[in-house]
Amino acid sequence: MIQSKMLERTQLVLVVDDQEINRDILGMILEDDYDVIYADNGKEAMRLIAEHCERLSVILLDLVMPEMDGFEVLERVRNDERYNRIPVIVLTAQKDAELRALQMGASDFITKPFDMHEVILARVGRIIELSDGRQLISAAEHDQLTGLYSRNFFFEYAERIHRYHPEWQSDAIVLNIEKFHSINALNGREFGNNVLRLLGREILSFLAETEGIASRVEGDRFGIFCRHQDDYQQLLERFQGVLDGISTRVSIRLRMGVKPWEDADPVVLFDCARAACNKVRGDYKTHLMVYDDDMRKGEMLDQRLINDLRRAVEERELQVYYQPKYDIRCDPPKLASAEALIRWQHPELGMISPGVFIPLFEGNGQIEIVDNFVWSEAAKQVARWRERFGVTVPVSVNVSRADMFDPMLEEKFERLIAENGLEHECLKLEVTESAYTDNAEQMIDTIHRLREKGFQIEMDDFGSGYSSLNMLSAMPIDILKMDMRFIKNIEHSAKDFRLVKLVLDIAKYLGVPVVAEGVETENQFRLLREAGCDIIQGYYFSRPLPAREFENMIEKEKRISR
Ligand code: C2E
Ligand code: MG
Ligand code: MG
Repeated sequence: MIQSKMLERTQLVLVVDDQEINRDILGMILEDDYDVIYADNGKEAMRLIAEHCERLSVILLDLVMPEMDGFEVLERVRNDERYNRIPVIVLTAQKDAELRALQMGASDFITKPFDMHEVILARVGRIIELSDGRQLISAAEHDQLTGLYSRNFFFEYAERIHRYHPEWQSDAIVLNIEKFHSINALNGREFGNNVLRLLGREILSFLAETEGIASRVEGDRFGIFCRHQDDYQQLLERFQGVLDGISTRVSIRLRMGVKPWEDADPVVLFDCARAACNKVRGDYKTHLMVYDDDMRKGEMLDQRLINDLRRAVEERELQVYYQPKYDIRCDPPKLASAEALIRWQHPELGMISPGVFIPLFEGNGQIEIVDNFVWSEAAKQVARWRERFGVTVPVSVNVSRADMFDPMLEEKFERLIAENGLEHECLKLEVTESAYTDNAEQMIDTIHRLREKGFQIEMDDFGSGYSSLNMLSAMPIDILKMDMRFIKNIEHSAKDFRLVKLVLDIAKYLGVPVVAEGVETENQFRLLREAGCDIIQGYYFSRPLPAREFENMIEKEKRISR
């Protein structure tokens, strides 16, 4: 009775190996923790498996044996319902056999000559743990949809390839489907699943031709760790070809990031490949990026800026510049307001433009630090100017997409207004068009609330996103800021000028004034005025200026209006 209880508690391990010395060593390692039974050939192994299948926790299986080899045992175990829950760890001295065994459903492998005892014990323990609760080991290690490896297993395996096969010089490749969520939304989940399945199948067929492993790492992101490839473009085209074959209303675009082989931890390699893949997100021309030295430098700079931001705020390296906006319906044009634009005077890197760090901080959440700083400075500045010059110059501040999710947003703006004795019209909020389209409902909701309080909303960079006309009419806005690209060529391109006129018509239809940004020349200014544009911002009038210098504009304005 006692004995059977003990037997129940201890887990049973079957060691299959034709070499006595191997059985001996494994016995020595395992017997303290497990009940161990042994077979010295495949036939005997099958007999023991049949006898003990209820209790067996794991099989340690040699691949090369007389009579019936390990591959056959593995196949029989996998294909038999009574046995296929039992995980199999393959014992092998032949490195090439590992991959085949894993593809046949082995859960792990132990190389001979054997690793340190602790390693083997840990590996056996882990596999048993994974398969506990009678969960199919293969289910845990494979992605059901594509049949590729699960994320964790993939990375563990990649690490082993790196350790045991450095000579393979494996590349890390990341594939991602552009705007997969919209593809799902437009065509249904089953359609999306099918896209993933087809891509998974093509990846497997590619891997049949070269040595490597692959995983659907998450969602629509795939990782491939394979022998070094010479032509990545061709590889991308091969995978893209599969998706091109699917008929749909929208074309499905793949993007690919590659970190060519380097003797480093695969996790690090995949981080690089992923960063490369993210670099081409949303790019209409480039779909392939190879992680190179420039990217490495870029990442180092990014990291540096991320680290330096807090100090920058404390040491006042961040400065707010102001660019005037002129109302051109008057003659002469009248200073109407200003836009607050952030600048970073870095002690070692010099002046850094927001184009460099804003997208970075928008991506990692630190944008809140920058924006709160700018909003607060801008509000104080309006009050200061009012006090000093007796005039009100309303300032527009940029509000990032991420800010729109801040539950304290309205409260923050309300407080700034109150603290500085301002009215709501003094602080205008610029929200970029693409923020609307990405998250329309939430965005419109927040904007409604801000407008109810009395804040004016300017839609920034209008024309750079994808607002449809009916979406536009549902969008609550007070001012439309035309994207700079429209203005750039109006002097030389009749087509561009017609586009500008179209935007002006849209604004008229919406009943809101238009700000044209990026106006640099007298000619552009004239054309815009004739076309009925309301307000102009651009180098033609002035570059963005530090607050002190901006005061010259205010003084000039006061002189004119006197
Ligand atoms: P934006 O809000 O569309 O700002 C207009 C950009 O156009 C500014 O670039 C401005 O300096 C530039 N610009 C103005 N007139 C001209 C012109 O005549 N010609 C040309 N070529 N450019 C002109 P800047 O200051 O480099 O800012 C770039 C973007 O960074 C801004 O685009 C905005 O999206 C973002 N940004 C700037 N400051 C902040 C901020 O405090 N918070 C947030 N969230 N974003 C900011
Ligand atoms: Mg702006
Ligand atoms: Mg803009």
